[in-house]
Amino acid sequence: MFANLKPQPADKILQLIGQFKADPRADKIDLGVGVYKDATGLTPVMRAVKAAEKQLWETEKTKAYTGLAGEPEYNAAMAELVLAGTVGADRIASVATPGGTGACRQAFELVRLANPGAAVWVSDPTWPNHLTILNYLGMQMRPYRYFDAETRGVDFAAMMEDLAGVQAGDVVLLHGCCHNPTGANLTLPEWQAVAELLERTGAIPMIDIAYQGFGDGLDADAAGVRLIAGRLPEVLIAASCSKNFGIYRERTGALIALSDPARREVTQGTLAFLNRQNYSFPPDHGARLVTMILSDPALRADWQAELEEVRLGMLALREQLAQELRALSGSDRFGFIAQHRGMFSRLGASPEQVERLRTEHGIYMVGDSRLNIAGLNTKTVPILARAILAVGI
Ligand code: PMP
Repeated sequence: MFANLKPQPADKILQLIGQFKADPRADKIDLGVGVYKDATGLTPVMRAVKAAEKQLWETEKTKAYTGLAGEPEYNAAMAELVLAGTVGADRIASVATPGGTGACRQAFELVRLANPGAAVWVSDPTWPNHLTILNYLGMQMRPYRYFDAETRGVDFAAMMEDLAGVQAGDVVLLHGCCHNPTGANLTLPEWQAVAELLERTGAIPMIDIAYQGFGDGLDADAAGVRLIAGRLPEVLIAASCSKNFGIYRERTGALIALSDPARREVTQGTLAFLNRQNYSFPPDHGARLVTMILSDPALRADWQAELEEVRLGMLALREQLAQELRALSGSDRFGFIAQHRGMFSRLGASPEQVERLRTEHGIYMVGDSRLNIAGLNTKTVPILARAILAVGI
């Protein structure tokens, strides 16, 4: 049987990690992988997570199964973090999932179950896992234009032109904030216009929010989701705790499905059913830590303070890089780096330029020229700025 298996395409980012490890140059710089790193290159365990883990170790009496949907307290805490009361509890169905990836997967499966013919509209570009999972599930996909290669901002007119083609019941996948891989985001009036389009067409929004707190702050980053949630009758939200709690390997996420109160119970039951079919009980450790942090005022305050340090640190690096490039190039054409939000920016370089950054300068980024701002520090920013100009970007 296994003779029938074909090699699967290698994950480009994992491939890049391998290349980086094998590079003997001491001054190499990794801007590829999508995890937050501090100025020393470490992805730290956050203080509040450590404190909650200590408490948990002391108080946890059993590791027996939780509920199929995860703990109700976790689901409530996540709904509060993302939606902040903009939606009544009678509309909210929610399950714990293994990370934001698990939430996306379960959301797609829910769509396939409810409306097998639905097309899922995805931004061009989007997080590659969206595409591979949709493809694996055999679902219909339609790209909508998103990134303006010239300005490196959102090409909103093109996006709306493409989305004018959605059918009632189609799903429009949006990034809640800190768009991956571009770093370019919708403004609030643009979210408003998208909400109007969705209302008019009867399409269902699905919002993937994997970086809440990494852009403009916890509330500002959720403003688009909250606006959509308050206006549209049915909404899917895939949330990840990997980045904002720094608990990547704990696999902590949530899928929230908003519906009419009359449909809530069957929606909730379907989410639990999908968990049962795919992995039964969702992981609990990370979800429990998140619940403890969000429900304990002291832990929450410390988590928010540290998350804010992380966010402001990345913003400062963006400012520094944009300024350095302005000074070296004598132009404002890199101003978009300071406008982008989150960990990523798409530079808009050619694959050849990305390759030259790697071979000639030991600077690693994804082939589409996505760079991870958190891979920099104040000393490496000028090195990157000089290399960017040296390869002719
Ligand atoms: N969505 C997007 C857009 C992401 O960038 C990520 C993280 N790379 C995720 C979802 C989910 O991440 P995780 O499964 O690690 O929580």
